[in-house]
Amino acid sequence: MNRAAEIFDHECDNIRLLGGEPLLNPEINTMLKIAREIFTDGVIDIVTNGILLTQMSEDFWRTCHDYKIYIEISHYPIKLDENKIKELADKFGVTCFWETDDLKDKFGVFPIDLSGKQDMRKNFILCHVPTICITLKHGRLYPCYFAAHVHHFNKKFNKNVEITERDYIDIYKDISKREIFKWLTKPVPVCRFCNIAGRHTTNWEISKQDISEWL
Ligand code: SF4
Repeated sequence: MNRAAEIFDHECDNIRLLGGEPLLNPEINTMLKIAREIFTDGVIDIVTNGILLTQMSEDFWRTCHDYKIYIEISHYPIKLDENKIKELADKFGVTCFWETDDLKDKFGVFPIDLSGKQDMRKNFILCHVPTICITLKHGRLYPCYFAAHVHHFNKKFNKNVEITERDYIDIYKDISKREIFKWLTKPVPVCRFCNIAGRHTTNWEISKQDISEWL
């Protein structure tokens, strides 16, 4: 956060703290405080599946209130005690909302093309992800969550969707925000593994842990 603030002059439009599931992190309260103390303006929100919200401590809710942290709940086909969540949010004066309804009943499939022979420029131009999900992970800035997390897919299915030093920026190197913004307007090599034309939505179902779900 300190390094990001240094590069971006403490200015941000929106920082979203994501997991996995961020509410599982025992240090979430500290992280929220750090984020807000360093970025005093701009929206900071936690994106959660909501399952643990009714079990979170008073300290968590008070931190969200005191440090102006919003809570965004993703739609999943699971049972949540929505009334209890709204009650808690009201009680502690926390802004808590569900993501847009158009994602409510469908699951987004973003297939991978293992051949890596897609046109990366065309893909990048058509892809909306870099405009909403620039991802900072372990000091590296990626244009999207796919580039940041595809190593999990590689490990699970013994594949090699290659991530190179050209797919991210090390924010600890000597770089300006202008250079970062410019870099974010261009495709990265891993874009050639995205099958943009194949993106679609489908009905929710339990994963069979089969690679076909990703292709
Ligand atoms: S790798 Fe490129 S095309 Fe694929 S999601 Fe990221 S930015 Fe979009």
